[in-house]
Amino acid sequence: MNASNSFKSSVVVALDDIQLQTALDRGTTRAVNGRISAMGETSAAPELRAQARAARLRALNQLPELLDTLERNVTANGGAVLWARTGAEANDTILQICREHGVRRVTKGKSMVTEESGLNHVLEAHDIEINESDLGEYIIQLAHEPPSHIVFPMLHKTKEATAELLHEKLGMPMTDKPEDMTRFVRGVMRRKYIEADLGISGVNFAIAETGTIITVENEGNNRLSCSTPKIHIAVMGLEKVLATWHDWTTLAQLLPRSATGQRMTVYTNLMSGPKREHEPDGPEKFYLLILDNGRSDMLAGEFAESLACIRCGACLNVCPVYQNIGGHAYGWVYPGPIGSIVSPLLQGIQKAPSLPYASSLCGACQAACPVDIAIPDMLLKLRRDLVKVHDPASASLPWRIGMRAWRIGMRSPLLYRIGGKLAAVGTRLLARNGKITRLPGILGGWTKSRDFPAFPAESFRERLAQKKKRVESQSRESE
Ligand code: SF4
Repeated sequence: MNASNSFKSSVVVALDDIQLQTALDRGTTRAVNGRISAMGETSAAPELRAQARAARLRALNQLPELLDTLERNVTANGGAVLWARTGAEANDTILQICREHGVRRVTKGKSMVTEESGLNHVLEAHDIEINESDLGEYIIQLAHEPPSHIVFPMLHKTKEATAELLHEKLGMPMTDKPEDMTRFVRGVMRRKYIEADLGISGVNFAIAETGTIITVENEGNNRLSCSTPKIHIAVMGLEKVLATWHDWTTLAQLLPRSATGQRMTVYTNLMSGPKREHEPDGPEKFYLLILDNGRSDMLAGEFAESLACIRCGACLNVCPVYQNIGGHAYGWVYPGPIGSIVSPLLQGIQKAPSLPYASSLCGACQAACPVDIAIPDMLLKLRRDLVKVHDPASASLPWRIGMRAWRIGMRSPLLYRIGGKLAAVGTRLLARNGKITRLPGILGGWTKSRDFPAFPAESFRERLAQKKKRVESQSRESE
């Protein structure tokens, strides 16, 4: 999926989709309430947030050194570290490992970076069966759909639609109970773990000082994907490294609370290389694949802070834009406010020109973010960059005439005042009860989905001048 440049038309479709609107309403409300209640349980939330931000920024500031340390320690633990500059390189490397070991079947835990690289399609094109093991990911794999949320990949689906899909694809007896659906899919997946030659997982964090990777989850699927097959490949974006276990103890308190409204997820998996000689279980081979795919460029620029993201999804759940259109409209792997920054930066700003504008800049995203990323500020900077790369000649004629008239008016105080007066008279003539429900001509696009307020009879400057006069005359009288 790569359609970030058709955002506007996707939004229209999403707004008209009743099933999607129902699912979004249920899903985001549940997620927002869960986070608020879980964060409310700890009186130290502001301090935790400050510590988490410091831990992530410290890691980004020392990233080359930390990645070196991580590689050294993973190797010392018996694993191998592989590097990929691009998503295609990452896919080639995984394919190569599959060929070396004669792999035919793969199970995969949740991993956004492999969504980024499109790994599933590549393996399937080479006749390697790959099964998503996270329940939500497995269901959307069955539906041939991409995830619509960083944490809840099938947030766009109602339980009713899910039951129909499982009934149609796997013959599940119809039910409206999520626990029955889960039990049914668990039965299907057990066999796939046993048959898999290779397991792939994402990485929530990698601890440089011991070469340990951490994944958090609720289903145990990731643990089975990593430990049942003989080979385990963990794939991470290079920003996921933390310096110390101490930093993890801070983030461990915030990630589940922000993501799923839990104090802790049911499973926290810590993996330090392949199984040792005395250990009965675990993979015989362990690879850590570290993907750049544009992150080094981000790190070197003014948007480096966006790499501090811990992919909790809290900013998506509170965003009024995401709440109304869901994740697919954003057209690529990362939706919502953080996706509107990351997608243009990773794909190139010209491939996602609408995304920096997909925000009301209300600030709810930054307020919810456990690492306090300045999302609105960065969206504004991206809008600035878009203006720089925009070719004015490509705009429509009415737009260019309008902008020229606007520029002339804004440069002349007299014209500005006259324009304000005309707008006040014009809008008051068209308004009913103080608002206009349909603007004429090409201006009508504005009132397709919202009202336009009538301008007040007096401008702000006029009211300010009158107020000043009143204050001066009162002070003269009191003398
Ligand atoms: S930007 Fe913040 S709130 Fe959004 S996903 Fe990342 S860490 Fe979570």
